[in-house]
Amino acid sequence: MTSTTTAFSTAADLLAAVTDDAGRTITDPATGEEVGRAPERTAADLDAAVTAARAAQRGWAALSHPERSDYLNRAADAVEASAEALAELLSREQGKPLNGPNARFEVGACAAWLRTTAGLELAPEVLVEDGDARAELHYRPLGVVGAIGPWNWPMMITVWQIAPALRMGNTVVVKPSEYTPLSVLALAAVINEALPDDVLTVVSGGREVGEALASHPGIDKVMFTGSTATGKAIIRSSADTVKRLTLELGGNDAGIVLPDADPEAIAEGLFWGAFINTGQTCAALKRLYVHEDIYDDVCTALTEVAKQMPMGHGLDEQNVLGPLQNKAQYDIVAGLVQAAKDGGGRVLVGGEPEAGQAGYFYPTTLVADLDNDNPLVTTEQFGPALPIVKYADVDEAVAMANGLDVGLGASVWSADPAAAREVAGRIEAGTVWINKHGEVNPLVPFGGAKQSGYGLEFGVEGLKALGNPQVING
Ligand code: NAD
Repeated sequence: MTSTTTAFSTAADLLAAVTDDAGRTITDPATGEEVGRAPERTAADLDAAVTAARAAQRGWAALSHPERSDYLNRAADAVEASAEALAELLSREQGKPLNGPNARFEVGACAAWLRTTAGLELAPEVLVEDGDARAELHYRPLGVVGAIGPWNWPMMITVWQIAPALRMGNTVVVKPSEYTPLSVLALAAVINEALPDDVLTVVSGGREVGEALASHPGIDKVMFTGSTATGKAIIRSSADTVKRLTLELGGNDAGIVLPDADPEAIAEGLFWGAFINTGQTCAALKRLYVHEDIYDDVCTALTEVAKQMPMGHGLDEQNVLGPLQNKAQYDIVAGLVQAAKDGGGRVLVGGEPEAGQAGYFYPTTLVADLDNDNPLVTTEQFGPALPIVKYADVDEAVAMANGLDVGLGASVWSADPAAAREVAGRIEAGTVWINKHGEVNPLVPFGGAKQSGYGLEFGVEGLKALGNPQVING
């Protein structure tokens, strides 16, 4: 077992460890400047990584749970020791600011998830014991897990995928997003200071590497977080090998503000529910339904909060909002705001990008008075533009919230928790928050309803998803 770890002091140290001069150029979304070059691996490289991971898996699975927990705790120590360097690199590659619920927060979450997952217990369950019969349920390692991730929370989502997989005795091959590979390579370099060889490998490359992983006969399970369209492709390409899948896909989370809510009191919670990571968050508040009695007051209070939140380069300590991560996402957001304006939406703040600026900055935008069928309401914007829809009747609001084919999260805002819970129970979503939106906890299961995916992450339920259930009967 590795006894000590070497902290990386700066992002430059991390880049020196992971960059490949012949690789893919990664640019800072705030400036367009080069951050580094990520190795561009092929399907043949993936084969080699899977072979090595399979060989390492036997020894890893043979360890006891406490031994693997010890490794995960050491991995958390390593992340904490290099936290500032990781946050700086993440900020430069992904764009998110160091401060606010952004880069430092994300690195902190990586350590927290590793540590909490290390401390979980999944004991065998005695199902029947009546003198004649005895049946126990165990969870055995699956083998090699493939982890495919997105670009919005690249480090944190990688940890969400790998921590339970490793804890349960699997080895892992990670395919990071082609937009944010350096963050994931750097995180793995830090974590690997604490782990045995080949237990955790990153194979960076294009979508074709993800496709090869999803159909690979040496991969037993795929943990996927990304768009619903890619999730469907993975279901298809994993079919021939009957892989286990956990799919955390896109969402378009509704928030319903009941007539008794206090607009001033909820405004900041609504803002961060929608604009965490500049709106580039799977379970962010993406469409807001406000009762007509308090509609104007909520619009005013939310606008006041939005105007106070500085957006700019992530390494500037004062900023809490950053650029869109890539041009394609910028174009989606700009197009949807234009559709909202064309559809008669009233722009409360933002709505016009600054001409001639460098980087993919789109201003914080609130658009009121929208019809529920406007594209900014019906399409996942994944950026800093929140549509606000007025309603008169709570049943109508619930019907609008349930009117899409996705259901990751949702929220209900009210001064009366019992009333909020009653409405929450009628919403078709994997999580419904009350008077907050998007909070996740490593002990609380998280997953989507409808086309937002299937399978649960986090907590003991998350461990079960990374094991093969086996009944010992007799
Ligand atoms: P994406 O689906 O475009 O890409 C995700 C990953 O899949 C990338 O690594 C990509 O290379 C890989 N990939 C692409 N095509 C593939 C294929 N055919 N087979 C295998 N892998 C393939 O998603 P994105 O744009 O990076 O992420 C944004 C989306 O992710 C949004 O819809 C967002 O809501 C969703 N998301 C969901 C969650 C969640 O927990 N539910 C969390 C974060 C993001």
